[in-house]
Amino acid sequence: ETIGQTLARTTEAYGENLALVDAPSGRTWTYREFRTEVLALAAGLLRHGVQTGDRVGLWAPNRPEWVMVQYATAEIGAILVNLNPAYRQNELDYALTQSGTSVVLAADRYKDSDYRGMLDAARPSTPELREVILFETPEWDELLTRPSDDELAAVAQRASTLRPDDSINIQYTSGTTGFPKGATLTHANISNNGYLVGELLAYTDADRICIPVPFYHCFGMVMGNLAATSHGAAMVIPSPTFDPEAALRAVADYRCTSLYGVPTMFIAELALLDHVEPGQIDLSSLRTGIMAGSPCPEHVMRQVVDRMHMGEVSICYGMTETSPVSCQTRVDDPLELRVGTVGRVGPHLEIKVIDPITGETLPRGETGEFCTRGYSVMSGYWNEPEKTDEALDADGWMHTGDLAVMDPNSYVRITGRIKDMVIRGGENIYPREIEEFLYTHPDILDAQVIGVPDERYGEELMAWIQLRDGVADLTADDVREFATGKIARHKIPRYVHVVKEFPMTVTGKVRKVAMRAESVDLLG
Ligand code: ATP
Ligand code: MG
Repeated sequence: ETIGQTLARTTEAYGENLALVDAPSGRTWTYREFRTEVLALAAGLLRHGVQTGDRVGLWAPNRPEWVMVQYATAEIGAILVNLNPAYRQNELDYALTQSGTSVVLAADRYKDSDYRGMLDAARPSTPELREVILFETPEWDELLTRPSDDELAAVAQRASTLRPDDSINIQYTSGTTGFPKGATLTHANISNNGYLVGELLAYTDADRICIPVPFYHCFGMVMGNLAATSHGAAMVIPSPTFDPEAALRAVADYRCTSLYGVPTMFIAELALLDHVEPGQIDLSSLRTGIMAGSPCPEHVMRQVVDRMHMGEVSICYGMTETSPVSCQTRVDDPLELRVGTVGRVGPHLEIKVIDPITGETLPRGETGEFCTRGYSVMSGYWNEPEKTDEALDADGWMHTGDLAVMDPNSYVRITGRIKDMVIRGGENIYPREIEEFLYTHPDILDAQVIGVPDERYGEELMAWIQLRDGVADLTADDVREFATGKIARHKIPRYVHVVKEFPMTVTGKVRKVAMRAESVDLLG
């Protein structure tokens, strides 16, 4: 099925249900209203000469227009290029040129970024870019004008030529480990993944999903929007960019049943709950939700279950290249495994853990590289055949670069990234294990462990630490004293660096590459 067919089917079945809610403006759309606007926009794009396979860039934080454009481009087989709202000029130029984008739909500005000015400045270096249309301009209104019957017939005609295996989306990865790569995904890749993720959460047309994670990323647009539209559930936008209070308010105001976030978002929401009167923000409508994107400390997961009324919350693991979800916890898994693992393989997918050097499949209980194969795997990185060949092998396995271990019952634990693994004096050290240990220190709010170059051992461990409110300082000696006898000597960080914040991607992931670079400077 194409995404357009799914939306048509859902609208047929649940036309009067809420499809989309924009909490900041209070605007709402039923499925019938939503699809009508999507088709109008699709007709508008046809008037502007958008062909099947043309790349259409979308540059905006979370707002209703984002979702409209997502579905309108799918309707006419244009390839949506997700542009990260935080891009600076050179990143924008890179993504536009790399993808060969011909039309950009964008907000006028976002925070301190003047999108209009930046898109103008991009022109000289992006010869394929022929048109930029900004929201809330007469050109945008023209795009959305009510289409004639002939125009709607043209949209339907275009839709009838599309196949589920057509590429529909270029999603740049988060750039956690370096420059983002343009994963190229089909209707079938992402619509099936959205549908199945929703299945395991038991979504029905009664669900309302609060989506504070960015739409530009697969977490928002697939696990959020596509999961919702394939089950007749509602998409609720709490704010253009993450704001913990807006997220919890939207849950309460719109009686959401599901709430998404990366660990840092849930941590911020829990911190907010510490400061409000019990009952002041009513979360009683919540039933489920998704935690994903980066490793989540177990104690945070337990609090999400206990304090946020999210008894059925699920952890998902995946990556942009795999549409994204490969593993997911299920509501009937034992609680211990629902807070401490990423669950088991998703339906219709295969996974294995291999020795990254020899490529051999490892037995249960051994740590190696996580690989996956099946319907969710991208066709490749846009115009980067070499990077594609590094990631996808001849048998169709995606090599994720993540380290994992599978238990005898097939539950998977993600233990880090190969690139983040520290080799100290020939010994492999997984920072995640040390981070989990450091969380047990009463003064430590959050901790990230990296390897820094060292003459004697090759690499040494350094911990970046955020202290709890009111704690003045913490030294390497304090940490050593706390850790001695509790973890192996070679795993005790040699250096401690206290910070207020970690460098983050806009998707809420810690950028260890940036930390390593800064640490090298710090240590001189
Ligand atoms: P880049 O590939 O550009 O360096 P990225 O890998 O962070 O950035 P994404 O595709 O957004 O880009 O993220 C996928 C990665 O996020 C996975 O490979 C994994 O390392 C991490 N991840 C996702 N979900 C989880 C999870 N539940 N637990 C642990 N890690 C996770
Ligand atoms: Mg990646």
